[in-house]
Amino acid sequence: MSRCYLTTPIYYVTAKPHLGHAYTTIIGDALARWHRLLGDDVHFLTGTDEHGQKVADYAEAAGKSPQEFVDEIAPLYAQAWQRLGITNDDFIRTTEERHKIGVADLLQRCYDAGDIELDVYKGKYCVACEEYYTDDELDPGDLCRIHKRPVEYYEEENYFFRLSRFQDRLLQWYDAHPGAIKPEFRGNEALGLIRGGLRDFSVSRTSLKWGIPLPWDPKHVAYVWFDALSNYITAIGYGSDEERFNTWWPGTHLIGKDIIRHHCVYWPAMLMSAGLEPPAGWAVGGWLLVGGEKMSKTSGNVVNPLDLIDDIGVDGFRYYVLAETPYGQDGDFTYEGLIARYNSDLANNLGNLAARVATVVGKKCGGIGPAPRADSPLAAAAATAYEATAAAWAEFAPNRALDATWQLIRATNAYLEANEPWKAEPGPAVDAVMGDALEALRIVAILASPAVPGSAQAVWERIGLAGQVTDQRLPVAAAWGSYPAGQPVTKGDPLFPRR
Ligand SMILES: [Zn+2]
Repeated sequence: MSRCYLTTPIYYVTAKPHLGHAYTTIIGDALARWHRLLGDDVHFLTGTDEHGQKVADYAEAAGKSPQEFVDEIAPLYAQAWQRLGITNDDFIRTTEERHKIGVADLLQRCYDAGDIELDVYKGKYCVACEEYYTDDELDPGDLCRIHKRPVEYYEEENYFFRLSRFQDRLLQWYDAHPGAIKPEFRGNEALGLIRGGLRDFSVSRTSLKWGIPLPWDPKHVAYVWFDALSNYITAIGYGSDEERFNTWWPGTHLIGKDIIRHHCVYWPAMLMSAGLEPPAGWAVGGWLLVGGEKMSKTSGNVVNPLDLIDDIGVDGFRYYVLAETPYGQDGDFTYEGLIARYNSDLANNLGNLAARVATVVGKKCGGIGPAPRADSPLAAAAATAYEATAAAWAEFAPNRALDATWQLIRATNAYLEANEPWKAEPGPAVDAVMGDALEALRIVAILASPAVPGSAQAVWERIGLAGQVTDQRLPVAAAWGSYPAGQPVTKGDPLFPRR
């Protein structure tokens, strides 16, 4: 048994959960479910990022204390994940005591190592945003893009993390860990950033109040990176339960392409400074665009995933997210695309196979499932489907994994069409074909369960199998020939009614 610690980014509580958050979280969940099928000891973490000036501003605008504000938003994430069937083992909130203790510990270690130093931060600052901006983030005339007013030149004492000292160490580490970032082209992006030269980054603000104070100089409050990135270790006991931390760390981070610099450059350097191991790996996803644009409040194209699951079901939505776009590339969400995927892969393929098998077993086999043949023509298709599915999940490629699983569904439908058991007289020939089809469905239910857990369980039960499909263990459970003859097969309502 191997250990598998998987994380999603923590989501900033100034927005309610939207399609973009759901995208990464569903991918993480499917991966966690796949590793559980493999018998791995899995720990899957998600959570919320709750500190910072923007949260304080939002709270003030809502007439609430920052704590009251985050206490209202964080549960919206937990509830959304529950409705989407997300099986996270933990949910970290950065306002929790366990997190604050760990962040202070990590900061102190980097400070003691000499990698955090006081310096003067100089730059163009928008007072209204309380943010520093670089020239290319400003409109002509040094205007803040949000406030359309001139920024001011500011100097302020900040603590800095000496990232510039880590260029060689990071390059050496990546050299010794090829393929740590998947897909590969995203790894090249990270290496490009490191080779391009690293600038020290500010880790504190004196103007900020809603955050975690630096333990050696508490008038400074930790600014973004040490607070947010540390969640991946504080949640598993860093600073509070060293044994638990050592059990799970290092972990694998699922991230979006916009946070490569922070996760693949800043974060491993921070860990190195503290004498800790860098992450085991990163899986970098693209954006799920809507109408070709990144979802944002200003463009008014925010999609609420919970509205979609009312329409198409949890599994229909999960399947679309996993199957439609190669992980790492940008995808473009359209409602028409969602419906087309649902109809072709779920209604016409999986749903149709389950229904026709149950119908024919009902009419020709007395409703009792016959045994599969050891030398079935479908056995090779099942073995190929398992191998290809497993290889794709190992490469963080859910779309390829599902395509490989769906090959077995297509092969089984084709096998039924070639044999036309619905036209034949009941007897050994029909029994043999239907036993094979039932066995293929059993394997499909297991392999598809990380994507469509509710529907996979329904197939499992309709073909007469006891217990939970999620309790099956691969690779043994995918071996051809385990379907037990003599089980009642039931049709039930359509699994995926056409839309
Ligand atoms: Zn501004």
